[in-house]
Amino acid sequence: GAVRDMLLGRIRDVADYPVPGVMFKDITPLLADPEAFTVLTDSLAAICSRRGATKVVGLEARGFILAAPVAVRAGLGFIPVRKAGKLPGATLAQSYELEYGTAEMEVHAEDLTSEDRVVIVDDVLATGGTAEAALQLVRRAGAQVAGIAVLMELGFLGGRDKLKPTLRDAPLDAL
Ligand code: 5GP
Repeated sequence: GAVRDMLLGRIRDVADYPVPGVMFKDITPLLADPEAFTVLTDSLAAICSRRGATKVVGLEARGFILAAPVAVRAGLGFIPVRKAGKLPGATLAQSYELEYGTAEMEVHAEDLTSEDRVVIVDDVLATGGTAEAALQLVRRAGAQVAGIAVLMELGFLGGRDKLKPTLRDAPLDAL
């Protein structure tokens, strides 16, 4: 629709970033436009409400920029999933494959309970590896995954198909 076109029109393609051959989707023009950022926040917050979320999980680092205002807008708590070593409390950790090597993300174990239904928010779904690790982390913390919501899905990378077995019944919403 028109809203989606307006938002995606404010994402800039940057060739050969961060490495040659990659076309990077830069969301900073959208963030700099207060109307677009508000519409995006409202759209993602509506998804959280529709999915019956009790918490919004944001993925470091660009996911934080979107998930924090979404949580406030939806009237829900914001839970950060951070790169390893950044959270001061007792954490659960999940490692995942990158193109070169592996990475690890963490969540505060006490931030999620079996009462929680979580929507995971990030900016871009690419190969799906990051979202898959976040799904596993949320479930290991005892919470239910109510959905994943992203601004943009790079369909040609097949993230949705890769996530299918891990998602089970949880919906993946992209604008
Ligand atoms: P994946 O794990 O799905 O391959 O990559 C998704 C993660 O990498 C997300 O956290 C996202 O922020 C980042 N990412 C990958 N490609 C892009 C891109 O083209 N643009 C932006 N903004 N983020 C990307």
